Amino acid sequence: MAKIFCIANQKGGVGKTTTTVNLAAGLAKVGQRVLMVDLDPQGNATMGSGIDKRQLELSVYDVLLESASVKEACVQSGKLQEAQCAYDILGANRELAGAEVEMVSLERREKRLKSALATVADDYDFVLIDCPPSLSLLTLNGLCCAHGVIVPMQCEYFALEGLADLVNTIKQVHANLNRELKIIGLLRVMFDPRITLQQQVSQELDARYRAKGQLFDTVIPRNVRLAEAPSYGLPGVVFDPSSKGAQAFVAFAQEMVERVKKM
Ligand code: ATP
Ligand code: MG
Repeated sequence: MAKIFCIANQKGGVGKTTTTVNLAAGLAKVGQRVLMVDLDPQGNATMGSGIDKRQLELSVYDVLLESASVKEACVQSGKLQEAQCAYDILGANRELAGAEVEMVSLERREKRLKSALATVADDYDFVLIDCPPSLSLLTLNGLCCAHGVIVPMQCEYFALEGLADLVNTIKQVHANLNRELKIIGLLRVMFDPRITLQQQVSQELDARYRAKGQLFDTVIPRNVRLAEAPSYGLPGVVFDPSSKGAQAFVAFAQEMVERVKKM
């Protein structure tokens, strides 16, 4: 049975998509069967996995509106197959913004993705969902079907404030819609150890969250190769496997494999 994880943080540009595609590629590299779901109308995770969002015949939009199954809408990227880091991709594009409006009047509107993913649970070890930078109905669909949330965050002062909102939302979803949901961990990303403030915030996170088992050991460094990779339609793990960023994401994939064994 697949373990389902949302990569979520309502703050924009914190590294959600970079985490999603590189974790997907890292898990595939260590032999896991992975489905990556792009739940953001920006379609960045789709493009960053080598799929042109404008060419999608079916997408997560069709799945949410129940006009296609997950199996029908999934695609694979040839470039990822060549690199032997292939994962299945349920893509997204601008059309998805409409789903938010169209779903409002529908029944079970926050559980549509959950029902859809139930049909493929045996086909994967991991399902990773890239959430948009909001606490919207789309994000809610992700949170309703997940076993846990991975929260990428930069070690900056305001990151700690935003975290409180996300923790509250997760508590509410846990209480009302999904008893399984929990924070699997905070992932420190774009980390630059030369910056004193980043070190301080990292220590603060350590003090507050490590004892609760909610802080990942792996730290993702700021690394330009990770930022360059999307323009080649590749996760950094595939684009430059020897880079520090890629190595950190493969280590993170291994940490996730170990973590899942204890769930
Ligand atoms: P959004 O909220 O818009 O969906 P996001 O949270 O998904 O954004 P990303 O798109 O993953 O964030 O990252 C934001 C920018 O930071 C991108 O340009 C990305 O390439 C860059 N970036 C992410 N992680 C790193 C890193 N470890 N080192 C250097 N650059 C990074
Ligand atoms: Mg994103």
